[in-house]
Amino acid sequence: MSRKVALVTGASRGIGSAIAKALASDHDVVINFASSEVQAQEVLKSLPEGNHSIYKCDVQNHEDVKMMMEEIVKNYGHIDVLVNNAGITRDNLMLKMSDDDFDKVMSINTKGCFNCIQSITRIMMKQRAGKIINIASVIGLIGNVGQVNYAASKGAIIAMTKASAKELGSRNIQVNAIAPGFIETEMTQVLNDDLKNKMLDVIPLKRFGQADEVAHVVKFLASSDSNYITGQTIVIDGGMVM
Ligand code: NAP
Repeated sequence: MSRKVALVTGASRGIGSAIAKALASDHDVVINFASSEVQAQEVLKSLPEGNHSIYKCDVQNHEDVKMMMEEIVKNYGHIDVLVNNAGITRDNLMLKMSDDDFDKVMSINTKGCFNCIQSITRIMMKQRAGKIINIASVIGLIGNVGQVNYAASKGAIIAMTKASAKELGSRNIQVNAIAPGFIETEMTQVLNDDLKNKMLDVIPLKRFGQADEVAHVVKFLASSDSNYITGQTIVIDGGMVM
């Protein structure tokens, strides 16, 4: 029997690449990226043996996403797991935030997630099985100064997770979200030390999280061990939000 197939969006670095590595032991993994092809190739090389591949596609583009799903089904025959991980930040205070920064974050984080879920739904419905895991953020639960766009985009992902779980449950498709706190990646590297220290103060475990620590939970949600869990948001934040 062929191995399960997982598509991870935005897997050329950071949390996405850790998820690709965690899933690669028992899945054939498709590493999606939008522009970082060299990094995506490096992730591909680092994976254990398997029929893994990379796929360039901007998740904002509905037609391209549809084509990506069709191509994966053509190559592998099925898609069992979708991890919607692609995401960006464009931080600024409300009064200084440009239209473009608001729209871009919503377009990649939220519309990108919708595009992937919608395009994979028909495939997973036919299979009568599938796991969709959306990477949200604690900021979508609690908000944050300077991140009105990002908070809205991630809050919407949590709501979309619940609505999709209700819609797709009868077809044996589980849809869950993960809300990471502060995880050490390129996305958070840019934050200044003052802000990082303030965040550490409110994290009971007194350290930032690692991409692997998110990936392990994704691996659980992608496995049959999580078959009776759907519509949930699992927070991975060292206890910051409780
Ligand atoms: P990262 O290091 O900046 O990586 C982002 C990934 O998304 C890259 O692989 C990037 O690939 C891809 N991407 C960006 N735009 C894309 C698009 N339009 N289409 C396809 N791929 C695209 O970020 P990260 O820290 O690993 O974050 C990963 C996810 O976790 C994001 O959704 C983020 O919001 C969420 N998250 C992160 C943290 C944290 O503390 N780091 C906390 C909570 C939630 P290209 O360079 O090829 O575009």
